[in-house]
Amino acid sequence: MASEQKSKRRLSRRQILRSGAAALGGTGALLAGATSAPQNQGPAVLTGTQIGRTFRGLVRHDTTLDVQELRLLPIDPRQVVIRSLAVAPCYTIVRGALGTNPIQRAEVPNHCGFGVVEDAGAMVKRVQVGDRVVVAGTAQCGQCYQCLQGRPDYCQLTFFSNAPGVEAFPPFAEMRDGTRVYAQAGIGGISEIMTAFEEYCVPVFSDLPAAELTLLGDQLSSGFAAGHADMHFQPGSDVAVFGAGAVGLGAIQAGRVMGAGQVIAIDPIKYRREFAVKMGATIALDPVAEGDGLVERVRELCRGANDRRFAGGVSWGRAVNAVMARGADFVVEAAGLQAFPPKVEAQPDPTNVKTVQQAWDSTRMGGHVMLMGLTLQPVSFPGAALALLGRTIHPGQQGGLHAMRDIPRYVKLIEKGKIDAKSMITKRYTLENSRQAVQDTADRTIITGVIELA
Ligand SMILES: [Zn+2]
Ligand SMILES: [Zn+2]
Repeated sequence: MASEQKSKRRLSRRQILRSGAAALGGTGALLAGATSAPQNQGPAVLTGTQIGRTFRGLVRHDTTLDVQELRLLPIDPRQVVIRSLAVAPCYTIVRGALGTNPIQRAEVPNHCGFGVVEDAGAMVKRVQVGDRVVVAGTAQCGQCYQCLQGRPDYCQLTFFSNAPGVEAFPPFAEMRDGTRVYAQAGIGGISEIMTAFEEYCVPVFSDLPAAELTLLGDQLSSGFAAGHADMHFQPGSDVAVFGAGAVGLGAIQAGRVMGAGQVIAIDPIKYRREFAVKMGATIALDPVAEGDGLVERVRELCRGANDRRFAGGVSWGRAVNAVMARGADFVVEAAGLQAFPPKVEAQPDPTNVKTVQQAWDSTRMGGHVMLMGLTLQPVSFPGAALALLGRTIHPGQQGGLHAMRDIPRYVKLIEKGKIDAKSMITKRYTLENSRQAVQDTADRTIITGVIELA
């Protein structure tokens, strides 16, 4: 009996060995297959090795942007191989992606994404194979000077670049003709396979759809963080948000979730003003219709019940003392410059310079303003007011997001129905029409477009 059990054990061990050998044989076969780069292999099928794995991605190369078949290159020991599930193109990338000037190197656009970890380099500690990860636009390494000062929104890794002579982020794939392909900002996103350094990856343990979770990589999390991570909207406070796009609507939702007394949305695009009200704005203003009276209008909305001092002072409507009027407690400028002529209502100042000044000027003395939208022009402020009015200017780099701290929190808020991610997705795409997703983002005909890759 004992020997029977022994032989059973031996058998089962042999069976294990046999299946192991079969598995090894399988891997060997797949390895051999990988060297000949199997064609049209779906991204869900693991090859047993990552190198040479074929997948498709949207690539900006030469003078065009189209879907290409790619072969994965070897990864860095700190990189993670991610099967992309969903990605939302950011407005920041549209000019580079849709431009027609010849570019120096081929690139998969975008700087965020979401997917499942399929492999990890030998030095990776943060994530495991099988994890669902948000790939954030901002790294949090926890070890650099900035992270150690408590500012992971300025993690030095995020600001690595592939400047001439420096190649912080190596190419991750090659096209059929051997052209090396980089991921924009070391992240990319609009491809069936992404590789990212682990410092950008935030594992999330949630059953929420990938299309919603991917919004936490950039636009929605950035906008929400504006009211939560660096500036802290106070319950009952007055909040004004310039720009009701994918980022501004995140800030508007933060106003709602944080219990702001009122949330003033400002956007020239009619459908976005209506959307802003659905997302929590208490009023939506058209900056074109308001013209030069916009700042006064915001101040008027923020004035107290009367002119007594505790309600904000006695200076209402008197130009000489207008800056003493209360203004909003918190202002977010999330309009940004106009990168492409939009197919909807154009913004009053395409450079965004005036909007930045208006945002600053709408802020009460001692209040807080975050400048998130970019302008490429110099912006000037009256020096005395800049010095004396005590308005704190917060930088808008991902809204002050601490990726590893905040993204898991925002996942919970979506799960509890506090943050509405689903409504923010106004159009869905496949990889085949992902170029259109970038175009629609540039045209501002959508709030957020999500490309679903699986
Ligand atoms: Zn972005
Ligand atoms: Zn860091």
